Amino acid sequence: MAGVDFFRHGGLPVPQVTIQEAERIAASFFPGRTVRAQPLGSQQDSNFLLTEPAGAVAGVLKIANPAFSAAEIQAQDAAAELVAAAGLRAGTVRHGPVTVPVDGGPALARVLTYLPGGTLAGAGRYLSPRVVAGLGTVAGQVSRALRSFTHPGLDRVLQWDLRHAPRVVDTLAGHVGDEELRGRVTAAAAAAWSRVEPLAGQLPGQTVHGDVTDDNVVCRVARGVRTPDGVIDFGDLTSSWAVGELAVAITSVLRHAGAEPCSVLPAVRAFGELRPLSAAEAAALWPLVVLRAAVLVVSGEQQAALDDGNDYVTGALEHERNLFDRAMSVPADVMTGLILAELGLGGGPLPVPSGVVPDLGPNLGPNLEHCAVLDLSVQSDAVDEGAWLEPGLEDRLAAALLADGHDAVATRFGEARLTASTVLTGVSPATVATGIDLWLAARVEFPAQLTVSGDGTRVHVSLPAEGAPEVPPLVRPEYAAGWLSLVADPAPLLGLPAASPPATDDLLNRREASFAAVQEHYYRDPPRIERGWRHHLAATDGRVYLDMVNNVTVLGHGHPRVEAAVARQLRRLNTNSRFNYASVVEFSERLAGLLPEPLQVVFLVNSGSEAVDLALRLALVATGHRDVVAVREAYHGWTYASDAVSTSTADNPNALSTRPPWVHVVDAPNSYRGRYRGSESVRYSGDAVRAIGELAASGRPPAAFLAEPFYGNAGGMPLPDGYLAAVYAEVRRHGGLAIADEIQVGYGRLGHWFWGFEQQGVVPDVVMVAKAMGNGYPLGAVVTSRAIAARYRDAGYFFSSTGGSPVSSVAGLTVLDVIRDEGLQANAARVGGHLKGRLEELAVRHSLIGAVHGSGLYLGVEFVRDRGTLEPATEETAAICDRMLELGVIIQPTSDRMCVLKIKPPLCLDVAGADFFADALDRVLTEGW
Ligand code: PMP
Repeated sequence: MAGVDFFRHGGLPVPQVTIQEAERIAASFFPGRTVRAQPLGSQQDSNFLLTEPAGAVAGVLKIANPAFSAAEIQAQDAAAELVAAAGLRAGTVRHGPVTVPVDGGPALARVLTYLPGGTLAGAGRYLSPRVVAGLGTVAGQVSRALRSFTHPGLDRVLQWDLRHAPRVVDTLAGHVGDEELRGRVTAAAAAAWSRVEPLAGQLPGQTVHGDVTDDNVVCRVARGVRTPDGVIDFGDLTSSWAVGELAVAITSVLRHAGAEPCSVLPAVRAFGELRPLSAAEAAALWPLVVLRAAVLVVSGEQQAALDDGNDYVTGALEHERNLFDRAMSVPADVMTGLILAELGLGGGPLPVPSGVVPDLGPNLGPNLEHCAVLDLSVQSDAVDEGAWLEPGLEDRLAAALLADGHDAVATRFGEARLTASTVLTGVSPATVATGIDLWLAARVEFPAQLTVSGDGTRVHVSLPAEGAPEVPPLVRPEYAAGWLSLVADPAPLLGLPAASPPATDDLLNRREASFAAVQEHYYRDPPRIERGWRHHLAATDGRVYLDMVNNVTVLGHGHPRVEAAVARQLRRLNTNSRFNYASVVEFSERLAGLLPEPLQVVFLVNSGSEAVDLALRLALVATGHRDVVAVREAYHGWTYASDAVSTSTADNPNALSTRPPWVHVVDAPNSYRGRYRGSESVRYSGDAVRAIGELAASGRPPAAFLAEPFYGNAGGMPLPDGYLAAVYAEVRRHGGLAIADEIQVGYGRLGHWFWGFEQQGVVPDVVMVAKAMGNGYPLGAVVTSRAIAARYRDAGYFFSSTGGSPVSSVAGLTVLDVIRDEGLQANAARVGGHLKGRLEELAVRHSLIGAVHGSGLYLGVEFVRDRGTLEPATEETAAICDRMLELGVIIQPTSDRMCVLKIKPPLCLDVAGADFFADALDRVLTEGW
């Protein structure tokens, strides 16, 4: 053996080099220049960051462990060059090597390129699926770059080579002081090895970097987002199993905040795309992860003993124990099934044993003849109205079916049950059934092949593969593919129909095929949401999310009173408002009654866009003017006229350059960012007044000034004091109308005010309402004065086939009843106030929060990279929204800079929901995104 041999040398203490010595060595590489050395942590070499007095980084001084031969160092440097040539950033040699004396004997010192951007290190930091995939990509690129590299310096035996893992664990286990832990680590390593060993002959070997981990992968950081793009530290270069490169990489993911075994899958997939894995490699992967985890635990303990005082080593111990526990938290069989499924190499439920004729015997057979299937999925009618949250629902439903005359009731294999789910969970609950539950009218004996548990008349039946670990009756959806690969559907053995295989969810592709690109969806990889209840949304995998975006469902999802009223009216009568019926009159009266004089005439339509369109028509006709003044960064709708006054570049990137000539745009009165800030923001009204005056002076007096009276699109920001009073006065002075878009902010959401314009102490001439009006049933309205409405008679026409229909009117009336009866405006004030307080407290601790805007349950959390420059943290906001989804919260960005979390949940949100949101956000801002 030319190189180092771990089993001969034992552990390698880091060569002790002082900062002064390091600076002296560095000076020989940089003659005539002063370089400072700053120690960097390492497990076997001595590393220093070299900087020049002005702060420029000169490189990384690496003093190799004296146990390493010159050939080994040469091999590492050559490999770094190969990896760099393949397009990754790599720590290649800039100066050296030279031989220097250190305490363990002569060692090779060299200066490597410093790669800025930082590594993925930091166990407290969260790694997003995108970053984990990036780690897998780097590992895959390294694997490809080194696949045909050979060198005499690879002739070495390292403790990190997973081929030697059992021996390493045996050798070092004695260093683990905690007997219980030692027992678990050695047993886990032995069990994992027993899985790898039979596959060993099928695992191709090659040169591996051997340490493509969070600590050694460097990132490019652009616009607040890190992307792994390079690798350092080739000190563990050796020849080993190719798949070991990936195993080592993904094990390091488990160390990180919030990581669990399934978190590694994006890396597995990314690696597999560059360097396809065989079925044998895929099967060996998780056992290799367990071996790596075991090696890390025993090596950490040994290093700690050897290197008493190396903080880098002792600090890592706890993380490594943690990592080991996580690697062991899911059975290897399950992880292997999951990995195979991820790679498209198999997985999925076991086939139902074929050719088995159900022999149910005289005892069971007749009992299953009249068997009812109980649907407990998200789409089941049996879980309506929040019934899934009631304990014991499954038993009650089954009892009702038995009472109805069924002999038996069976649930479905592989089904994600909403009844197993719950609300406000940061981690997905176990919802997917690995067997079936049976309720029987009479006690029976079951065939011997089946695993049956339970007593009385409810039993759980499953059909696990031989030798499978114990399979829980319900498993988490992320792991379902793994668990289901260990069980078959027991239904056919009971003479019941087999569950249909899980549909390949190609809904997004189908959506794309029949949608235009402009019809966007939330999230790159969205959950499939098929049910809502109050402020919760349920996905088909049974995960329930807190809904912080649905301002339309102001009462909460699935409100029974709206459903009942609409269903009853649909059965009774639905026609157009030219017929004479009560509900359209009652609803118009109620709406007008909520508005101050002289707003008393109501036009009922079906959407906000229609309402804005109609309001503009009213203004043009009533005034005879042709021009309209709108504010920047606003959205008002998609119809011709409502789009014309929509200036938000978030909704339409070309909004400002494509306004028709009759639309005149004034500054967004944003008091946080924009031309005037803070107390200066009162000046926005002066500018707007001047613009309106100039327009009039040029012979084009505006027909209207149209704006949201509370700045919704900016995340719920109040307009500066006196803004609307001044601007409304000016537009009226020139014969124009004041139009308020209350579509988002009106209807009680602001808590302290039912309408946004109340906050400004003004009364508009025309008000548009929509969204909340129907709790999701399409409704919109324009309310104006009798005088303005009368003018429209002269030059306009109005009829809407479904606007104000009996069903629409009943929906609208019921929503108003519920807002009143459930005190939702007061709830918005109370819960919104509490939430705003929580968010303001987060702003004290997290500098990314530039401001918390809003009132009631229309709040905005604005993220900035720098509180001085207010540089918008756009990419961070998107990433935070993705992470919040993982933690069970649906939240989206808004504003032209897409850097504001728009918080506008159903108004039934309670303090528990608000706290869940604030806690999740705190966690994301602490752990990263
Ligand atoms: N005005 C505002 C302020 C809005 O937020 C919206 C919808 N986002 C609209 C008008 C248009 O309403 P709708 O989508 O119902 O057409």
